[in-house]
Amino acid sequence: MNKDSGCSGPATHQSLTVDEARRIILDTVRPAGGWERVALRSALGRVLAEDIVAPCNVPAHDNSAMDGYAVRADDLATDAEARLQVVGTAFAGRGFSGIVGKGQAVRIMTGGVMPLGADTIVVQEVVRTEGERIVVPGGIRRGQNVRRAGEDLAEGAVAIARGKLMGPPELGLAASLGLAEVTVARRLRVAFFSTGDELASIGRPLAPGEVYDSNRYTLHGALNRAGCELVDMGVIPDRQDALETAFRNAAACADVVLTTGGVSVGEADFIRELMQRLGEVSFWKIDIKPGRPMAFGRIGKTWMFGLPGNPVAVMVTYYQFVLDALLKISGLDPLPERPLMSLVCTAPIRKLAGRREYLRGRLYAEDGAWKVRPASTQGSGILRSMSEANCFIVLDENRDDVVAGDSVQVQLFDGLV
Ligand code: AMP
Ligand code: MG
Repeated sequence: MNKDSGCSGPATHQSLTVDEARRIILDTVRPAGGWERVALRSALGRVLAEDIVAPCNVPAHDNSAMDGYAVRADDLATDAEARLQVVGTAFAGRGFSGIVGKGQAVRIMTGGVMPLGADTIVVQEVVRTEGERIVVPGGIRRGQNVRRAGEDLAEGAVAIARGKLMGPPELGLAASLGLAEVTVARRLRVAFFSTGDELASIGRPLAPGEVYDSNRYTLHGALNRAGCELVDMGVIPDRQDALETAFRNAAACADVVLTTGGVSVGEADFIRELMQRLGEVSFWKIDIKPGRPMAFGRIGKTWMFGLPGNPVAVMVTYYQFVLDALLKISGLDPLPERPLMSLVCTAPIRKLAGRREYLRGRLYAEDGAWKVRPASTQGSGILRSMSEANCFIVLDENRDDVVAGDSVQVQLFDGLV
């Protein structure tokens, strides 16, 4: 591979660890650029393409965090009750227009603007009324239960930084600033195709020796979740000319091309050779199970990932190598953390040291504690295992057999927000 290509990596055939392969990919890919203005609701799941600087304070005024009374701390004692005259009421959205003088208080509801003169909110639960007056206990802290102007977002400060994924909290934050539109990164265009003479598309009966193409559907789901625009190019047979045309068409229209199958060293495996001829490519044997062979490179400005063919290997390599690359190319910055948690595994696992394994696991609660067990069958062709699972059990390179009761590392499939 050309060293100046921006796609440099170890030579073909070299075996890499998962961490090495991830680092090379993530150090190599660059944000694609491009942006558009969208209505706030449409920004969900998009990457913010410019800093949002707060045009105002949120909240705009000091206001009450509780239902109660707005008082002057100077009127209160630390160890004795105080009697105050109630001179008016402040509601959220309809304030008290006067000034709270010495010995006075204003009834106030949550969100009501702090009346002039008052500096402290006493919650109604601790107050006794005596006709027009209230009795406030001693020991109230000055400034208690007051929400300060700008304490959520301060005017002039960066409220949401460029590169942030717009999720539910960010939609709400932008709305709290009154923003009807935001600038988001252009959606990535990802072209993908399956390769294999044995593959049939859904909707027609299988001929002898055929299997339905499932990889395009798992990728359809995963790429949609990642916010990409999809170019589904169907099934391409194991023929050099057909594959070359597919690669050229994909590279001409997409930011990223994903292929599945044909990337190992069988007689009908042309992907690596083609990628090398059309562009620049690193081909790796990765010390990973499942998903050992993988190609990564580019044709012109288009990034290419040649994933293995086995359905579980496709999903493992997609989530461990491709997803974060897509997010980086989309402009996400920083990339999400991928936490691993240590949990007790309640079944034994056979494991060879020397490679990292991603087993499909199921978290479950038992006796008040969360534990994990491997899915019943683990073959790289058993796609059902992904569906049964809610996490990967990640067994590091230097680990060997797991005994029931051992702690293992777990990577969750789902986040919450
Ligand atoms: P390959 O890497 O092309 O040798 O494929 C490895 C295994 O995965 C073979 O058993 C293929 O039939 C199977 N396979 C490849 N692509 C697909 C696909 N798109 N859907 C389902 N199975 C596939
Ligand atoms: Mg094949």
